[in-house]
Amino acid sequence: MLLRQLFDPETSTYTYLIADMSAKEAALVDPVLEQVERDAKLIDELGLTLKYCLETHIHADHVTGTGELRKLKGCQGVLPENAKVDCADCFIKDGEVLKVGKIEIKAISTLGHTDCHMAYLVNNDSLLTGDALLIRGCGRTDFQSGDAGTLYDHITQKLFTLSDDTLVYPGHDYRGQTVSTIGEEKQFNPRFVGHNRDSFIELMSNLNLPNPKKIAEAVPANQGCGKVAATV
Ligand code: FE
Repeated sequence: MLLRQLFDPETSTYTYLIADMSAKEAALVDPVLEQVERDAKLIDELGLTLKYCLETHIHADHVTGTGELRKLKGCQGVLPENAKVDCADCFIKDGEVLKVGKIEIKAISTLGHTDCHMAYLVNNDSLLTGDALLIRGCGRTDFQSGDAGTLYDHITQKLFTLSDDTLVYPGHDYRGQTVSTIGEEKQFNPRFVGHNRDSFIELMSNLNLPNPKKIAEAVPANQGCGKVAATV
């Protein structure tokens, strides 16, 4: 299996290319509009057919590349169930498995950062956590119908119960970190170590983070799979 981590420096977003190199089939998770050319070139160089663009959630910080990649590559745009979008080719449910060649990608509903969010467990050993669990952090819960208690429950009950050596690949990183493990995050993630549900909610309500720069543009664009509204 090929699992390639790609980075967008403007928004600190990770996109993941997952490919079965013998079947020559691939999926991209959370592509970024500004990086579509880079991603399409890599897919061409590796001789892959792009089957799916998968979103972990409706992003507020960047515009998705799914719409453009679908035009270029004829792939399907897959979104988490209940995502309020009008452009998905299909929706994926909690526990559902997508196949890319022989690779199995299992959706794990991980709500709380937003009200529709999936983590994707690849071949049972690599977990793409989107913005639910980050390395030594977690996604914010103060907009897009986020809910700190729900995020705590889903991370502790659904992600922290996976095997300790499961690799954790986050949707963003702002400190240069690339990959962790479930065991490491259980041991060292300061949002969870020494916290219970109530103190986690308290911690999350006092973060006072500024809104992402692109939120006004990104959310509506992502509800249309990356169609940026023409400015008048
Ligand atoms: Fe997000």
